[in-house]
Amino acid sequence: MPECIFCKIAKKEIESYIIEESENFLAFLDIHPHAPGHTLIIPKNHYEKFEDLPEEFGKEYVEISKKVATLLARALATNDFTLGINNGPLAGQAVPHFHLHLIPRFPNDGGGSIHSVVFNKPKEDLSVIYEKILKVKNES
Ligand code: AMP
Ligand code: ZN
Repeated sequence: MPECIFCKIAKKEIESYIIEESENFLAFLDIHPHAPGHTLIIPKNHYEKFEDLPEEFGKEYVEISKKVATLLARALATNDFTLGINNGPLAGQAVPHFHLHLIPRFPNDGGGSIHSVVFNKPKEDLSVIYEKILKVKNES
């Protein structure tokens, strides 16, 4: 099986516009940017989804994300961002190597909010869904 493209970027086997790096993470510009400064932050090792990340990565992940956001804010003169994770194919994940999208936002950029990603209105009442969740929680 051919190796994953983001593993190759992490190993610097293929070129990318790297803007920040830490022990376990790498940040580089998205090759098809949806906005100026659209950046991806990936773990250097291959984890497919958010829930596969080791818990001890938490602090470093927040640190590098904040560092990248600060850098982009200064370079591109905006303080607003959309942060997004397409977690799994149904959520639109095309590259099966975990990545956080950091998308700088600008006045009148034509974009929407996270609320525009999907509107699959539940057929059941909120209380029914809540009970389902509590049942599973109480069983575990
Ligand atoms: P997703 O749909 O969340 O899996 O998004 C994958 C993202 O990876 C897309 O926005 C692509 O433009 C980006 N991408 C794919 N290949 C590369 C690459 N070689 N360098 C930088 N970004 C890439
Ligand atoms: Zn990979």
